[in-house]
Amino acid sequence: MAIQRPKGTQDLLPGTVEQWQYLEDTIRNVCREFGYEEIRTPMFEATELFQRGVGQTTDIVKKEMYTFLDKGDRSMTLRPEMTASVCRAYVEDKLYGQPQPVKLYYVGPMFRYERPQSGRYRQFHQFGVEVLGADQPLVDAEVISLVWNLYKRLGLVGLEVHVNSVGCPTCRAEHRKRLQEFLDERQSELCSDCQERFERNPLRILDCKNPSCQTLTAGAPTTKDTLCEECSTHFEGVLALLGAAGVVYRVNPRLVRGLDYYTKTAFEVMVEEIGAQSAICGGGRYDGLVEEIGGSPTPGIGFAMGIERVLAALQVQNKLPEQKPKLFAMFIALGEKAQNKAFSLLCELRDQGIPVGMDLLGRSLKAQLKAADRQNARFALILGEAELEKNVLLIRDLTIGEQTEVSLDKSLQEINKKYQRGV
Ligand code: ATP
Ligand code: MG
Repeated sequence: MAIQRPKGTQDLLPGTVEQWQYLEDTIRNVCREFGYEEIRTPMFEATELFQRGVGQTTDIVKKEMYTFLDKGDRSMTLRPEMTASVCRAYVEDKLYGQPQPVKLYYVGPMFRYERPQSGRYRQFHQFGVEVLGADQPLVDAEVISLVWNLYKRLGLVGLEVHVNSVGCPTCRAEHRKRLQEFLDERQSELCSDCQERFERNPLRILDCKNPSCQTLTAGAPTTKDTLCEECSTHFEGVLALLGAAGVVYRVNPRLVRGLDYYTKTAFEVMVEEIGAQSAICGGGRYDGLVEEIGGSPTPGIGFAMGIERVLAALQVQNKLPEQKPKLFAMFIALGEKAQNKAFSLLCELRDQGIPVGMDLLGRSLKAQLKAADRQNARFALILGEAELEKNVLLIRDLTIGEQTEVSLDKSLQEINKKYQRGV
């Protein structure tokens, strides 16, 4: 039997890859304009990095990691996300010694052992940014406005930007207490996951997707009710700046992050049209994370965006650009002598950076013309025995069907001129 690709992975074929490149190019342009630099970290890391940096109680660490022992008996894990790796690099590569803040971005594959379904893969791709070494509301607003700017540039509409503040460990302790008091008598009605969360991580109950848990927690105290003065001032500052940036947002008091090193701002972007997996971006501040993985206390904020889900949104909203012609011209050579001459002209045009091609299968004139059409070529450059004898090349414009004859000596110049003119 033929071997198949692993469940939850995709082959990206020509035609689709161009859409990915378009999205990645747009991402890189926006990052460059915002002053973010790219970082690339290993695809696998010591398992402990994610246990500490993502958190033992999260779904990712509990159920979704691709973990294996290498031949030296070290536990390794394919990265399920990149924030922990970036923070590790910040400490290990001493990026704290550079001018602060350090503004980084990444684009690449992540791996999670999940139940594959539409919008949910085992190898998927994220674009994300991380800003380390700055704690001002201005940074939070810049990061969110980068997301907003990217979506605007891509032409996406109908996005919902949800923001909240989860506070700091101090004000969260009070919220945790009030939440547990509220949920105490409803505990037995919660789903089994949430019953488990009750002691360890009650905040996460607010964000359970189970409808009955959502009903039970409808009137629960939110983080907003218990924010300390510093967190509250920070949040007000972020909202004011988002307003100034023209970002349309909604404060969603149910938006939470369950772990202690997540602080203050949390946000998420949703598009309803792409179905159940509607979150295309999630992020927030993590002022406790660098310390958690062994560095000095360093404020940080970032987000991660699902590339597949953004592409799905672009697809349903019909915002993917039309694909440009692949080749400017195709040589159509008949007979060995003509083929040799055509190949030499082809190489010269390629040296000049002009996208040209020729038949590689020794096909008939008709088949070669058909191939030129399939390649979206604007011109066919025809060279047969007769043309060789007359020392000419036929240039056929495939969009209007017009044909001109130029002398072989002038043909390169002529083609270059057309290319530079854009015809
Ligand atoms: P979800 O609730 O959908 O599982 P998450 O909270 O696990 O999302 P994050 O870890 O915050 O997601 O990742 C950020 C973004 O990465 C998500 O908003 C989503 O767009 C994308 N993403 C996460 N997991 C997957 C996956 N398995 N396949 C495709 N995209 C994903
Ligand atoms: Mg998930």
